[in-house]
Amino acid sequence: NNETYLARQAEFESNVRSYPRKLPLAIAQANGVWITDVENNQYLDCLAGAGTLALGHNHPDVLQSIQNVITSGLPLHTLDLTTPLKDQFSEYLLSLLPGQGKEYCLQFTGPSGADAVEAALKLAKKVTGRAGIISFSGGYHGMTHGALSVTGNLSPKEAVDGMMPEVQFMPYPHQYRCPLGIGGDAGVKALTYYFENLINDVESGVRKPAAVILEAVQGEGGVNPAPAEWLQRIRKVTKEHGILLIIDEVQAGFCRTGKLFAYEHAGIEPDIIVMSKAVGGGLPLAVLGIKKEFDAWSPGHHTGTFRGNQLAMATGLTTLKHLTENKIADKVAAQGEWLKGQLANLQKRYPVIGQVRGLGLMIGIEIVKPNEAQDHMGCYPSDPELSALLQKNCFKAGLILERGGRNGCVLRLLPSLLITNDELAIFLDKFEQALLASGI
Ligand code: PMP
Repeated sequence: NNETYLARQAEFESNVRSYPRKLPLAIAQANGVWITDVENNQYLDCLAGAGTLALGHNHPDVLQSIQNVITSGLPLHTLDLTTPLKDQFSEYLLSLLPGQGKEYCLQFTGPSGADAVEAALKLAKKVTGRAGIISFSGGYHGMTHGALSVTGNLSPKEAVDGMMPEVQFMPYPHQYRCPLGIGGDAGVKALTYYFENLINDVESGVRKPAAVILEAVQGEGGVNPAPAEWLQRIRKVTKEHGILLIIDEVQAGFCRTGKLFAYEHAGIEPDIIVMSKAVGGGLPLAVLGIKKEFDAWSPGHHTGTFRGNQLAMATGLTTLKHLTENKIADKVAAQGEWLKGQLANLQKRYPVIGQVRGLGLMIGIEIVKPNEAQDHMGCYPSDPELSALLQKNCFKAGLILERGGRNGCVLRLLPSLLITNDELAIFLDKFEQALLASGI
């Protein structure tokens, strides 16, 4: 049963297990948005491998693409040597980037999102000859040293001392809990002013940075979409000052937000696009899209063993083709709007839902204490205990979802992009069951 496997795993592994504490199951099978555990319980999976499984679990085309590699005789792993499959994958991926691939080149960086973030930071330093990076509160970029250094969340950083120096954090325009009241125009203008002053070195004491790194929709930080105007201003100012704009699309990319890339909502073009998760169709792969003028690497300057996973390129290519050929972004955008409307109805009946926000199938539900006093911004205090209880009761109701944001107060939806409307209705039903079971 589940307990046996969980106990055995606890013996095998060191004490850093994270998910099993909140989601105590041993998975036997999975199909689409559904996971079945070893006791034959079924769960609707709204985590989807932390957003990796864009086509859900075990999509037949994805499985077939693995089969095709196996029967073709291709090696499973090729370092950075080329193959016809790598050629096809690269051409297809480039064709999705701005300018249909003419403006960008690719760099395969390794298996994980953090690998690609590291490469992006190094490249920006090499291109500009400067060291500083500007990053944002609530941003998440990974757990390796550089990526963690630019991650705007203190708790994983407190585990070790000595992060990368010369990282400057600025407030991200949070729709609900922003120190500058960023929900409105005035807030966006205030943050833009702050950013421009920093860059222009007006009384900031900060040296001009090499790059700005951000997520156009923050994921782990609690599902925060950036206002388009703010992104446009950042793009304009960075360009004027020769600062590279690195956009981390590891989670928000590949139709998750109802556009192929989340930065498209603001109509801007990054200098470096960080891609992982869905780009490998469920298998480990990470790639940078680099504006050609910033491709400053020389051979040997940035290498890594696992950059040639042929299975990941096969599953990635299949996934990218499926997403684009079936116009999944449009479907996701429409479903996101519908779902936010349904959750807003639920919010009227359950005021513990402080805010519902997000884009496409990247939605966050902020859990608050509605009976306590509002702060000066008009927000209720967040409720970490209730949000943890809700996650637990969601699990009991057969719903797997993760939390994020400050103190984990945001319940996050990140399901397969192929989730059906019927399955979204099941989600709503189960979520309401969890609200009721939590005594709300
Ligand atoms: N960037 C973003 C936006 C992410 O969401 C994540 C992972 N959640 C990462 C980077 C790091 O990716 P990985 O865990 O594969 O290193």
